[in-house]
This record gives sequence, C-alpha cells and structure tokens, in this order.
Amino acid sequence: MKKYLSPFLILGFVCLFSTNLFAQSIDKIINASEVERIERVLSSDSMQGRKTFTPSIDKAAAFIAAEFKKNGLQYFTGLNNYLQEFNMIKGKFISAEGNFDEQPLETKDILAFTTQAELTINNNSGYEKIILSADSNFIRNAMKYIGSDKNYLLIVDPANATGFNRLKRFKREAFKKNTSVIFVLSALDPKKYELTIKYEMSEQKLINVVGILPGKSILGAEYVIFSGHYDHLGIGKPDAKGDSIYNGANDDAAGTTAVIILAEYFSRLKNNERTLIFVAFTAEEIGGFGSRYFSKQLNPDNVTAMFNIEMIGTESKWGTNSAYITGYERSDFGKILQTNLADSKFHFEPDPYTTQNLFYRSDNATLAALGVPAHTISTSKMDDEPNYHKQSDEIGTLDMINMTEIIKAIALSSKTIVAGKDTPARVAMEK
Ligand SMILES: [Zn+2]
Repeated sequence: MKKYLSPFLILGFVCLFSTNLFAQSIDKIINASEVERIERVLSSDSMQGRKTFTPSIDKAAAFIAAEFKKNGLQYFTGLNNYLQEFNMIKGKFISAEGNFDEQPLETKDILAFTTQAELTINNNSGYEKIILSADSNFIRNAMKYIGSDKNYLLIVDPANATGFNRLKRFKREAFKKNTSVIFVLSALDPKKYELTIKYEMSEQKLINVVGILPGKSILGAEYVIFSGHYDHLGIGKPDAKGDSIYNGANDDAAGTTAVIILAEYFSRLKNNERTLIFVAFTAEEIGGFGSRYFSKQLNPDNVTAMFNIEMIGTESKWGTNSAYITGYERSDFGKILQTNLADSKFHFEPDPYTTQNLFYRSDNATLAALGVPAHTISTSKMDDEPNYHKQSDEIGTLDMINMTEIIKAIALSSKTIVAGKDTPARVAMEK
C-alpha cells in the first residue's frame, strides 16, 4: 500500500490525522467536568475563603501541590517540593513618642513603616529628611518612599492630614527589611529630633505553589509562566443570606483552576520547547506579596512571557468566547495570542478598564515593571461584577462551559510561545 501513496498525499493525510488528534486531545484534557472538579474543590466552603495566614489556605496549597504531582511537574530550582515558602513580618503597634526641636510630638502624629521591633532615631541617625508639602498626590508620593530601600524621615504638612490618616490603615505586613520609613505630621522642620517607636513583631509563613515542566530544547533561560492567585478574603460578617464565607470562586479559584489544567494539558502534550512554570500565588489580596517574592527568585531576563489569569469565570463585556488582556498595547503578546486563534471564534481584546490601572494591580505587575511581557488575562467586568469581593462569589455564579473555552483559548493561543517560535516584545518601562 505504502508505495502507491504520493508524498503529497501522505503529508495531507498526516496533517489531517494530527489535527484531529490534537482537537480530540485538547477536549479530553480541557473539558468542563475537569474544570468543575478543580474549581469546586478550591471554592468549597471547607476551604474557608483561603485567607493568607490561616490553616485553610495551606489546605488549598496542599491540593494544588497534589495536582502538580499527578502531572509529574518538577520542583522549582532549589526546592525539594512544590511549596515555595517565605516569611513576612507583621507588626502590631505598641507605642510612639518623640520631639521636634524639643517640642513633644503626639503619638497619633507618628507613623512608621518598619520591620524592626524597636526603633530609636535622632538627627544623627542618617535618615534622609524630606518635607512632604501640600500635595493632591500625597498617597502616591508616600508609597514611593514606603517601597524604597532607604531610611527616610518624612515630615508631612498638616494639609495632607487626611492622606496621612489613610496611610495608617495600610496593611502592616512586609518583607523583612533593614530600612525604615517614618512619617511625622507636623508643620515644623526640626533641626534636632528624637523618635522612639515600638512594635510587637511576628514572623509569618506564606506559601506559593510552583511546578516546572522542563523545555525539550530551550532549557532554563526562556521561561514561560502560567499563574493565578489562590488566596482570597477568608471569613467575614454574614451577608443577608447568612453566608460568611468569601469563597472567591471567580477571584481567583478560577485562575488557579486554569493554571492546574494548563499544567495537566502541557504535561500530557510534552512537546514544549521552552520551560514552563506553573505557579499559584499567595497573598495577592493583601498586597501581591506572593508574586513579589516569586519574581525575585528568578532573573527577569530569563522570562519570555507570563500568562497571569484572574477572574475568568464570568462572561466578559463582549459575551462568551472572549477575554481581555491588560497592558495589551505595551507589547505584542496579545497580537501573538490572537494570531494563534485565527481559526477560532475566540477573541482577545485590549483591557477596556484602563482607568482602573489593572496592568499594575495584579500578580503580573512585578515582572511587567521589569520589562517582562507579563500580562493578565481576565473576563471580569470591573464596572459590573455583582459578586466581586462578596460572600456570593460562589461556583454557582460561574459559567463552566465558557471558562473551559477560555482555558482552551489560552492553551492554543500560547502554542508558538511555548514552542519557541514567537517571542513577545519586552514591555516598555514606566517612567
Ligand atoms: Zn484576584
């Protein structure tokens, strides 16, 4: 038989055969019942809202790790299991006192961002002193100092009192640091000062779940990351229906489900040329600490692309079979994805909620700020998502069929990046 077939015919036959096989195999792995199986576990009441620093989030981490193990993923460099543990410091305020040019300050006018239990400083301690005069962008400005690695004494003009008081409500968790930033609300610019601030510090453990699928040819230096955050808000006050559990089915059990399924898909396919990293981040809801820690464990130059997946359980504003990509115009990542879906009814759109600054509000932000084409894929209608951050964010409000199509679209749209054929352009840095 063989010798009668022309090479052209053989080629055609093989193509047809493999296309069918491919279509079959993707539905076999990425289908609504598998999506629902995982989503149901992560968003169940027994997970108690997966709040950071609670035992229930560890339960979710164990589940994700077990799924990674089933798919034979490898461990991240330097780890001997799927759990990437790290510590954060949480401070409970005890006392603050001091004086400016020998005039006593009031406790309520002193605010420190520090991870040290006791801080005593004066004008000889080498703190850079800066006056923050009346400023409508006060919070934004203040954030820059809080995020820096220098010691600062920031003297806040009383005109910024409202902003100063808002800073007091900022989360008290932080990575351990040797530097501190102290704000004092005062109209004085002191020549001499003295401040003593005390906190009760506790160290708390957090866990990202990370699994690796090594690339066939491009080992190590060209990672493609698929990520979502598995933490949510935990338990709060009961709503009108008496429900107190914030299940976070959409936010972001949905993205985590996608990450697990994509790990399953690519590990069965086993044809990825580039190394794939699958990661479920912790502590997104309290400040993106999971992704911030993870992003520092690798060289951003070695990351080719990041597919971060957030809230894909509901229909986008364009209806089914669509999703948006944050920071779409900042690289050609979105265009590559769309080109790979040319034969599909699925379409990716640029983020329509640009005033909400979503590009820098999710777990892609740390790597994106370093130039990595790291984008978030979502369907969340940020102006009209009735269950967002509510007890009612439950599996029953999600569209499993549409969510399955989105995960399939991510899998298919990533194929040339996974295969090492396409390399998205780096993201332009913000000034
Ligand atoms: Zn989220």
